[in-house]
Amino acid sequence: MSVFISNHTFSSQSSEVGTLHTNSAEKVAFKIRGKGAKIFVIKDNKLLIVAKYIKPDVKWYDLEIQAKAGSSKVSQSFRIVNDQFNTNKVIAHRGAWKNTGASENSIAALQHAIRMGCQGSEFDVHMSADSVLVINHDPTIQGLAIATSPASQLKNLKLSSGENMPTLEAFLKAGLTQNNTKLILEIKPATDNLRSLQLAQKVVEMVKNLQAQAWIDYISFDYTICREIQRLDPYARVAYLNGDKSPSVLAADKIWGFDYHFSVLQKNEPWIAEGKQKGLTINAWTVNEEAMMKWFLDRRIDFITTNEPELLFKLVKK
Ligand code: MG
Repeated sequence: MSVFISNHTFSSQSSEVGTLHTNSAEKVAFKIRGKGAKIFVIKDNKLLIVAKYIKPDVKWYDLEIQAKAGSSKVSQSFRIVNDQFNTNKVIAHRGAWKNTGASENSIAALQHAIRMGCQGSEFDVHMSADSVLVINHDPTIQGLAIATSPASQLKNLKLSSGENMPTLEAFLKAGLTQNNTKLILEIKPATDNLRSLQLAQKVVEMVKNLQAQAWIDYISFDYTICREIQRLDPYARVAYLNGDKSPSVLAADKIWGFDYHFSVLQKNEPWIAEGKQKGLTINAWTVNEEAMMKWFLDRRIDFITTNEPELLFKLVKK
């Protein structure tokens, strides 16, 4: 049995954090354990935060939720994060690397994006031959195919700025020290469907183990991967990248949003209004020209993914 919360953030605006669920068909009784027991209460399977105990400067609270259904009982840890995430639409594509000297998809590029105050920093995840998750854009790096190379070999590779190729674990741990920039996690399709599913399973498991749900928005070109993430975590925020599905198809599948190439959105402009009407989030990649940034800002899409976060910041702050 796994426990799910429909949301992993809190703010002073609302006492309700989210609804509790499990994947058990039986009736479940929930209890709060651990340090957070004082700060949270459960009422009608809703997790509530007690406003008078909130310290305004705290980044997050950890709590344990115990679920009991029939004779089975599980206890699961969660991190409920103070929602101080930025809302400026700026998503740094592979981190902020182009004007900072960092390598793309490096921890340094992530840290630059965080320092700049981006709403999100995007990165790409592959799986090594021995099932270790690593960060890189292409399926190969310096002539090595990631899928057929052991992690011990990959982890020693130096990126152009001298940093080692990061594992997903090290990368997430660097991102989880703050609560202002979301981590936009792209799962790359693997060499075959089975490996793609294994990769999605490994990623969702790591996000759960690191209690990183508040930070992560998932994206993928592979619809099977998107659906697998949803199966594993029904409240995961998953956006589809490939541009070949209409908002109504995505909404029917309860996908969180679409993150399409700018040309797809310019060609199918009504999808923007339709997506909003259906409650989907809308992102465009990879928008590097000022005129096109303005085109999307005028149409009030939710996010813009760019290699030029500095330029986009100038426009959104106007
Ligand atoms: Mg990517």
